[in-house]
Amino acid sequence: MVEKNKTSDNFKHYVNALMTGNSYFSGELIYKYSLYVLGFIHVIISILMLICQSYKLMIANIVVCIVIYTIAPKLVKKGQLLSVLLGGISEVILMTTASILTIGWEAGFQCFLFSAITGAFYFPFIIKGSKRNILSLALSVLLIVAFFFNYLLSSMLNPFEPLSEGLTTLLFVINSLVALALMVGFSFLFVWELLSKQRILELQNEQLDELAHKDPLTHLYNRRSMNKKMDERMLELKKTGKRFTLVLGDIDDFKHVNDTFGHDAGDLVLTSVAEIISRNVGSQDVVCRWGGEEILIMMSDSLESGLLTVEKIRKAVEEHVCESETGDVKVTMTFGAAESIPGFTIEHLIQQADDKLYYGKRNGKNQVVSKLPEDYVPNRT
Ligand code: GH3
Ligand code: MG
Ligand code: MG
Repeated sequence: MVEKNKTSDNFKHYVNALMTGNSYFSGELIYKYSLYVLGFIHVIISILMLICQSYKLMIANIVVCIVIYTIAPKLVKKGQLLSVLLGGISEVILMTTASILTIGWEAGFQCFLFSAITGAFYFPFIIKGSKRNILSLALSVLLIVAFFFNYLLSSMLNPFEPLSEGLTTLLFVINSLVALALMVGFSFLFVWELLSKQRILELQNEQLDELAHKDPLTHLYNRRSMNKKMDERMLELKKTGKRFTLVLGDIDDFKHVNDTFGHDAGDLVLTSVAEIISRNVGSQDVVCRWGGEEILIMMSDSLESGLLTVEKIRKAVEEHVCESETGDVKVTMTFGAAESIPGFTIEHLIQQADDKLYYGKRNGKNQVVSKLPEDYVPNRT
């Protein structure tokens, strides 16, 4: 039962991969299965030729089939995909011409030339080199020329071994159906390749975005992207009058943490503090690692409601026990908060938050400072 569920999960997984373009299949696996399918088509044609008593064509198809199942996979494994491609296209042209000359145009073997065109346009995905597209175009032109060449030959020459009308019609139906299925198959693979490449690019972009905008240790925004976000918020304030609050926080006695528990434990504390803050702020708020263990929060709230959140964060940090390899660490944080006022610059606001943070550090730490005493003169040395 468990085995059955696993098989059906795997099946769903692969169907999902095919539908969405997720790269669950290696290129080599795709080529291998494509070869199996192409070989199988030659088995069908060999049987049809046996039924039609066209023994020469039957033998030719069996030979092609043996080559597809024996030599081609080895070439794929060695990475000689161009040889497989050129061999495949040549085989389609030769076998189609031979079949048309033997049985006649009406049996529909020429449809395989069109399938080969869709195949030729799939190849730029599997071969390397700057002229990949030109090769696809050149092969398509060759296949179109082969189509008209065969049409001309068959209109000038009578087939060597013509079949009855019934068998010819049967062959026409089967040939066109198989050729159409091949076209659909190649087009499907084409889109699948595009989708999987697009997905890889999207993932790489996300990673690059993370590298460019986030701090690698805490995964908070870095100073550069915070500056950009603050400028944007400042513009919004000018346009709409919508205020915001800046909160600068600093871990208390962090040097002591590093000295007592080691730098790695310090890193762990920093990461957990960042997590606590991110968890507690609103979805519109932005948290950034401003410097060493200084964290700047931009809240879309007014100072009054922002303070409730900061107080919640302060408490959560105070209560949190960080279990490091060198021991359990507890830290506290001091915060300075300043609300945006029209006419103030970002630098001015940060300075205000910093003054309040400094005041908090000088007056007992582990607190949120939103107001300075009237007679207080900030120390900005
Ligand atoms: P205060 O309460 O006044 O803030 O005291 P403090 O010891 O925290 O002093 P300060 O803020 O000046 O010290 C910051 C220390 O943080 C110095 C530096 O070694 C440490 N630090 C800065 N960045 C990192 C980091 O990424 N990892 C670790 N482990 N330590 C860091
Ligand atoms: Mg500190
Ligand atoms: Mg500091």
